Amino acid sequence: MSGVNAIRSAFLDYFRKNGHEVVASSPLVPRNDPTLMFTNAGMVQFKNVFTGVEQRPYSRAVTSQKCVRAGGKHNDLDNVGYTARHHTFFEMLGNFSFGDYFKDRAIELAWNLITREFGLDAKRLLVTVYHTDDEAASLWKRIAGLGDDRIIRIPTSDNFWAMGDTGPCGPCSEIFYDHGEGIPGGPPGSPDEDGDRFIEIWNLVFMQYEQVTKEERVGLPRPSIDTGMGLERIAAVLQGEHDNYDIDLFKALIRASVEATGVPAEGKTRASHRVIADHLRASSFLIADGVLPSNEGRGYVLRRIMRRAMRHAQLLGATEPLMWRLVPALVREMGQAYPELVRGQALITETLQLEEKRFRTTLTRGLGLLTDATENMGEGARLDGETAFKLYDTYGFPLDLTQDALRQRGISVDVEGFNAAMDRQKAEARASWAGSGEAAAETVWFGVKDKAGPTEFLGYDTESAEGVI
Ligand code: ATP
Ligand code: MG
Ligand code: MG
Ligand code: MG
Repeated sequence: MSGVNAIRSAFLDYFRKNGHEVVASSPLVPRNDPTLMFTNAGMVQFKNVFTGVEQRPYSRAVTSQKCVRAGGKHNDLDNVGYTARHHTFFEMLGNFSFGDYFKDRAIELAWNLITREFGLDAKRLLVTVYHTDDEAASLWKRIAGLGDDRIIRIPTSDNFWAMGDTGPCGPCSEIFYDHGEGIPGGPPGSPDEDGDRFIEIWNLVFMQYEQVTKEERVGLPRPSIDTGMGLERIAAVLQGEHDNYDIDLFKALIRASVEATGVPAEGKTRASHRVIADHLRASSFLIADGVLPSNEGRGYVLRRIMRRAMRHAQLLGATEPLMWRLVPALVREMGQAYPELVRGQALITETLQLEEKRFRTTLTRGLGLLTDATENMGEGARLDGETAFKLYDTYGFPLDLTQDALRQRGISVDVEGFNAAMDRQKAEARASWAGSGEAAAETVWFGVKDKAGPTEFLGYDTESAEGVI
């Protein structure tokens, strides 16, 4: 059965043979879009090509794109360890047509790849189309021979993609694989579609309109294609696994984590090993692309990912920094495809080790406090905002770490109370500073600060690539 590296190559090769330029992945920090926190889809590096602002010497491209969905609108952080299909870092395989081929060829290329080259059982595949897209529905019927029962019409924005409020947009069509009856979950469009039985493997976007104003939408003279398939998800299918975390790559990373901790990945500890493996990838790739842990913006997302992983290492009983010891396994698995991991290995190792050393003492103490505070709580209880804030302020616990720590026990956190405590502390700092007799300078400073707002995450809330695939 093919490993992840072979599947990636097979995808790139197939589209290269079909006239596509093989283009390297762009970095995780987008170059051309300051409002986007991380590259979260294959099309990000081609945005200006789709709008016609930028010209390239080719009209068809294929990539395997590094993606992180752990900040901004696309945030899968809370899914990791809980679903079979989500990572914070993953690779998106994609083929693109810039005004070249359109719907029929895109469907044909996709169908032939998965059924002929990859040999998937067509009986296990079903597709969605946007409810008004009769053209796509009839193409699926003609090209793939799918019956009406396996072409599901979806009326929601899940199947209509837009680059932003204005700009290129169009219907999309997603391909799902049925992993079998034993797994909970319903087909797309059904009430329990969020289960893991029917897993979305590939999204084909048909960019055929331009949204000119809120009311006006016109047809694009040269429609384009943008697709995205999760490498880990197609690898799971090809390796006969239901779960992304059981593919060769993750098995190797989890094995490293098991060896380093001496704790098997079974029962209760399974999720911790998975989170560690996932967060190791996200952290390492982010560091390799120049992000360092800090208290704001991208750096804070990285810090949150690293600290969440460290809590899981602690759960596994690790008493010494763990993450840095897993870097060689990651480099072994992915260093050939992504040489930046090899180049950045020393920096990645050092950064992980330093952050873990720094956080270790307060992590232990903070977890102690959390245990005491929640000792008598049962399922459905809520931790008060003051305690969550104390954990944040004194012990360096990002809010989501506290939430993650309590989630398994069904305990939530009073987020409003947390925010109120944060605001109060800011106000107090302001008041005590005013007391120092430098009121004028202080007023000016806070005036500026208030206008600019808090530094964390600001500017990333409004991702321009809304709904990007
Ligand atoms: P889902 O509904 O499963 O969350 P999505 O609709 O958000 O997926 P798209 O934005 O359409 O995903 O991205 C294109 C493809 O990338 C998906 O079909 C899937 O194969 C893959 N993908 C998306 N998010 C993740 C993730 N967090 N981890 C791994 N693969 C992903
Ligand atoms: Mg999603
Ligand atoms: Mg989806
Ligand atoms: Mg999708």
